[in-house]
Amino acid sequence: MKLATPLERSGAGEISSAAAIRDFLVELAAASEGSRLLTLGYSVRGQPLLGLEFANGQRPLPRLLLVGSHHGGSEPAGGEALLAIARSIAQGSLAGLRDLFDVLIVPDANPDGRDAGTARNANGVNLNRDYVLLSQPETRALNGLLQRWRPQVVLDAHESASFKQHTLGKEGYLTDFECQFDIANHPAISSAAQALSTTLLNHLLAAVRERGLPAQRYIREITSIRRPLTHGGYSISRFRNKAALYGALSFLLETPMPPKDGVYASHQDLETRTAKQRLCIETFLRVMASQVGCLGDERHWQPPPAGSAMALSARYVSAGPERIEWLRMRRYPDLDFIDVPFVDCRSLKAETLSPVPAAYFLTHHTSAIASALLAHGLVGETLERRLRCDVLSTTAHPPAVARGLFRAQTRSEALSLEAGSLKFSTAQPFGRLLPVLLEFASPSSLFQYPTYRRLVKTGERHFVLSALGH
Ligand SMILES: [Zn+2]
Repeated sequence: MKLATPLERSGAGEISSAAAIRDFLVELAAASEGSRLLTLGYSVRGQPLLGLEFANGQRPLPRLLLVGSHHGGSEPAGGEALLAIARSIAQGSLAGLRDLFDVLIVPDANPDGRDAGTARNANGVNLNRDYVLLSQPETRALNGLLQRWRPQVVLDAHESASFKQHTLGKEGYLTDFECQFDIANHPAISSAAQALSTTLLNHLLAAVRERGLPAQRYIREITSIRRPLTHGGYSISRFRNKAALYGALSFLLETPMPPKDGVYASHQDLETRTAKQRLCIETFLRVMASQVGCLGDERHWQPPPAGSAMALSARYVSAGPERIEWLRMRRYPDLDFIDVPFVDCRSLKAETLSPVPAAYFLTHHTSAIASALLAHGLVGETLERRLRCDVLSTTAHPPAVARGLFRAQTRSEALSLEAGSLKFSTAQPFGRLLPVLLEFASPSSLFQYPTYRRLVKTGERHFVLSALGH
């Protein structure tokens, strides 16, 4: 018998509560052989974060992770759709996927936000900007999952209001998108992974269009018609980019929430929104299934060899001189269609190339930084005796703009590192994250956040040193 999702039971009248989602997952897991319910962690208010795993167990298969509703009750449709998808994998039209993938579904990444009707969690934090600091129990739980379960493919499902009262709405416009997918785009992602993601994205957009829904590569939230168009942000504070630096081919889905008579998009039309999410996610799964042969290649995800170049920052630039893109939008409040010209800056140009060191050394603040790195799955070793070593040392200078990157001056020197200093080798699993988290040139570095920024003394030798050899 087909188990009804909480949304189906309510006649699509209301958002499912976190508890109703958990009850459904428990029932579904009990009714489907070979599935397992995992408790990944707990929310601020102590609600369990659940993942439903369909694992083959006999032979290794590529691992595919689907996450919904990072933005809680403000973007519930992804979570609602994932319950129906889980049912189709357990006992319906998607059961064949289980021969190709191990699948893990986390429909409700922010249960407190869902129950409160907010995008943020119970501490008021935007979870999809917390994957550097990992300050919240929900992000630590999902980040831990990326480290332990090591998915090869990740989808993070979001929604976005087409009418934005406080920004674009004030100019008298709203957007007119049906489905947007983006790929992870941090410049330190290996070029092999970037190329493969782009190919898969193109297959995906074509497949969604074939099913009758206009689809395009994600355009970063348009807050003004005078702002250039770009794709999504590349910081690893976002889940999709963080997952990619752990080695996954990682994607973002965004479907729109329609405007509701002059106020910010609300929970109206949840059934249509959920159906749209479901169509997009099912298409995603079918495209990944059709390309399964190229997804599981572990060689793409090795740490970069010491001495190789790695980009840490990037900027969106025009794809050509005076490139203009006309976007179909709608006028507010009459909702008439109108084509609007935008400056097109959707080329992401990698900026800083930094040779990857063999190791980083921490001479001070060792416990604070080591704890932060450990949360990202990075392990260091303590120097038991003093070590004489050729290192690159850095002196930080105040940033050119408030809260900008520290300007850094680097020099080679031979230093004696005291016993008790810590060494982090970049040759470890996830070693690609070390330069991203520690270098001043990286906008995703710990030192861009007040907690760690205040440890930096400008004009003095910085307590993080690097060594090309070891
Ligand atoms: Zn979102």
